[in-house]
Amino acid sequence: MMRASIASIESFSTVDGPGIRSTIFLNCCSLRCKYCHNPEMWAMGKMNMSSDELVAKIRHFKPYYGTMGGVTFSGGEPLMQGDFLLDVMPKLKREGLHLALDTAGIAHTNIAAILEYTDLIIFDIKDITKERFYALTGGDIEDSWAFIAIANRLNKKFWLRQVIVPTIHDNSAFLKDLALYIKDHFPKENILKIEFLPYHKLGSEKYTTLNIPNPYHDMPEMDPLKCEQLYREFLKYYNS
Ligand code: SF4
Repeated sequence: MMRASIASIESFSTVDGPGIRSTIFLNCCSLRCKYCHNPEMWAMGKMNMSSDELVAKIRHFKPYYGTMGGVTFSGGEPLMQGDFLLDVMPKLKREGLHLALDTAGIAHTNIAAILEYTDLIIFDIKDITKERFYALTGGDIEDSWAFIAIANRLNKKFWLRQVIVPTIHDNSAFLKDLALYIKDHFPKENILKIEFLPYHKLGSEKYTTLNIPNPYHDMPEMDPLKCEQLYREFLKYYNS
């Protein structure tokens, strides 16, 4: 039986997928997004829970999930603990639960097997060209594309998320390109939702505490109202 390094469990989340859900935050991430508000989760940390222990915990909350809710694996990057997912997801499926994966699509070699047990992918786009993706995250967008290709082959449903950072994503050129990117990479009928998340600085003190340089120390927060306007502008391009 596999063990996982779990940073925390949010028992009654209403934002990490449909309905009321338990969100499992798995430690470890190979990306270094400049806006990351969880740098304390980059490292793997202690293996502190077995798959059976997690299933027992989840079973306790099952009555609250209703018909729509369930369990979301988030992080960090949950695929970094893909072997644990392969162990625990079939067990949760046997409990009849809806399972979501909140991911940037980076890391694991057995993505198809994990997606077999995934009802919804909450996919963090981050950016849309190889150069821009690398500049923002330090990662390779081709990993992301490989993940999307496998998910599309399996006809998986997506919630798409885009963090909007001032000076980088808050302009018409990016919004137009993002609309095209989404149309090119995801079948429209499989996109259940597209969300813009305004960049915020809630995690910035963690950089000081951990003594890690904060690349966005001087970046202003994204105004949530402006972010809504940008979303409406994006929808015009996306729906045209
Ligand atoms: S993928 Fe998430 S956890 Fe990893 S660096 Fe980016 S924001 Fe942080």
